[in-house]
This record gives sequence, C-alpha cells and structure tokens, in this order.
Amino acid sequence: MKGPTPHRLKRFACRRLRLASYLRHSGEGRPRPQIGAPVLLWALLIGLILREWSFHALEALVRSPARRGLEVGRGFSEDTLAYFTERLDPGPTRAALAATVRRAKRNKAFDGSRWIGLALDGTGAGHCREAHCPLCHPIRDAQGHVLGHLHHLCLVSVVGTGLVLPVDLEPYPPGDSEYGAGQRLLQRAVTTLGRRFAQYVVVDGEFATAPFLHLAGELGLRVVARLKGNLPELSTAAQARFTAQPPTATFEDGRDRVEVWDADDFDPWETLRWATVRVLRYRQHKPDGTCVEAYWLTDWPMGEVGSRALYRLAKSRWEIENQGFNDGKTRYGLEHVSHHHANSLLVRWLLVIFALTIERLYRLRYLHRGRHSSHTAIELVRLLRLALCPPRPPDTS
Ligand SMILES: [Zn+2]
Repeated sequence: MKGPTPHRLKRFACRRLRLASYLRHSGEGRPRPQIGAPVLLWALLIGLILREWSFHALEALVRSPARRGLEVGRGFSEDTLAYFTERLDPGPTRAALAATVRRAKRNKAFDGSRWIGLALDGTGAGHCREAHCPLCHPIRDAQGHVLGHLHHLCLVSVVGTGLVLPVDLEPYPPGDSEYGAGQRLLQRAVTTLGRRFAQYVVVDGEFATAPFLHLAGELGLRVVARLKGNLPELSTAAQARFTAQPPTATFEDGRDRVEVWDADDFDPWETLRWATVRVLRYRQHKPDGTCVEAYWLTDWPMGEVGSRALYRLAKSRWEIENQGFNDGKTRYGLEHVSHHHANSLLVRWLLVIFALTIERLYRLRYLHRGRHSSHTAIELVRLLRLALCPPRPPDTS
C-alpha cells in the first residue's frame, strides 16, 4: 500500500466515503462566489486534519507552495473563509457526516462489537472577552460581574466499538440548556442514523431524568446513565444495599481489579415509567492503591447484558470525553474562535468533528488493512505534512 498523502486522502473521502457530491452541494449561501465552495470546504477539512485549524493559518498554507499538494485549487484569504462559513447552511454537512457514519457501519467498520453505543455530553468552547454572537453565554463571578463569555454545545458520538466517530453537535444559546439541546440532538441523530443503528445511549448524571429516559426508550435505545445525588432516593437505596453486600463479581480490567455490585429490582422514582431500575456499582482498584467508585442505572435486562459487559458500556462514556472533546480541543481547534459569528462557529465545529471522523476512518480502517499496525494520529499528520514538500529540482550543476 502506498503511503498517505493529502491527494490520496481526498480520493478516499470522495470515492470511498462518497463525499464528492457533498463538496459540490454543501449548502452554499454566498450570492456570487468567486472561489467555489468545494475548494473552500476541502481546504477547511484538510487544514483541520493537518491541525492547521485557524483561518489565518489556512490562508498561509493555501498561499504557499504547499497548496498543490493539498489538492486545493486556488489560494484565498481568511476573510473568504469567514464570509463562506457565515452563510453556509449547516444541514448538508450534518447529513453528509451522518451518511459517512452509516456507511462505516455498512462497510463493517464496527464489526467485532456486539453493541453500538451513542454517547451524549456537553462542553464549553470558544472563550472570549466580549459578547459577539447570540450563542455567547456570560461567565459571572460570585458577585454577578461578567468575567468573559463562553459558548456551549452538546455532542453525540459513536462509542463502544473501538472506533469513536463523532456524529453531530448542537450549540445552545443562553436561556436554553444542555439538557434541552441534548434531547434535540439525540432525536436528530437517531432520525439521521436510523433507529436500528445503535442499541444504547450512555450519558452522565444530568441526563438521568424521567423525560430523557422516556425519550431514549421511544427512540428504541437502552439507556446507561450515571447515577448521582440528583436522584437521592435511588442513590441512597443503592448505596445502602450494596455497601452491606459482597460484590456480585470481581474481574481484571488491564492492570486494575474491578468489583461490581449489580441488582435489577430497585423501585423507579415517582415520574419514571419503568417497572424496576437496574443499578450497577463498580469499585475499580488501581495498582497505585487508588480506587474509583461509580453508580450507574439502566433499563437493560440482566439476561441480555451481564455485569461485566454493563461495566464496559458504562466506561464507554469516557470515549466522548477523551476522543471527542479532548482530541477536538487539544488537537483540532474546537476551542478556537476563527470568526466570531454564530453560524460560522457552528459550521466550523461541525467541520472539526467531520475531520475527526474522516481521519479515523482513513487511518484506523482504510490504511490499516492487512497485517501492519495502524499509524497513530500524530504519525499520520507527519506523513501528510511531509507529502506537501515539493520534489527537489534535479541538481544540474
Ligand atoms: Zn459568541
């Protein structure tokens, strides 16, 4: 197999992932564009994959001799990107991203996993001093003084399969909530991915409320949710019962020793329309002597998912934290505000998660065929950057 280059990556995206028609019909909103949307969209995606994520850096890149190797037809300014992203309809990008993830499943990218999960979680990104857009949330100190502004968004990602693929995100303005945005996002993800795509949704404690659990059930998903103090009755009942009992099972997780307690006959709280609630408690003992303890609730029957498997499904929540938000922020500029405009922010965030999904499918599935080990993310970036060096002219001296 030939080594990775931006040219081959683009061919992979256009042919294997069938994104050529998305690049041509991406929701262009500029009345008389001088530089076509396919040029700008591909430049944004390859720029993100190369971790040149600011509009300013991308302008420098496409005005350098590296442009040919990037497969970007023309140079342009950062103002062009600002104007383009302000006016781009985010709908086609969301649809293309969901179609890419559906295609990954059809192409057996998740084979080897018994269940496919969706993790849903919120984060803050794009800190700035002054408010510039309707998505700016003021940050206040204890006296109510405004210290700055932050944007908030919910993300949904495929987890639990060994291949973490972000699918969609939903920012929300002040007055709205992570909880509300999360429900809209889950509904849209299940509509675009299809009801049989995933089997469960895994969420943190703030989503463990009756309306959210009911919504997940209506969408055909089992729920695995962290159980915290916001459900005091169930939380107290589970603690009282499990601390008085020996563990249901003990097993190894890497170098850690894990004890689990598991029971499926807890009473639902008043508003929850479940017959009973299953609660899992785990205590994960690390080699350095520390212990991590957590409680989780689910509607998954014990006959279908054993204690150890449920522990793994609960742990899959960390994948959105580590390979969604953490990767997005530290490596792909999810925190960065390239152009402070609500639609431009949304489009760029969507392109960040699209770039993550394309990069992972290329690196961990397409390039990883055969017996050799897969490239790490930074190795792929280095190979792609090296491929941008123009060949040396022959030495004729
Ligand atoms: Zn803003």
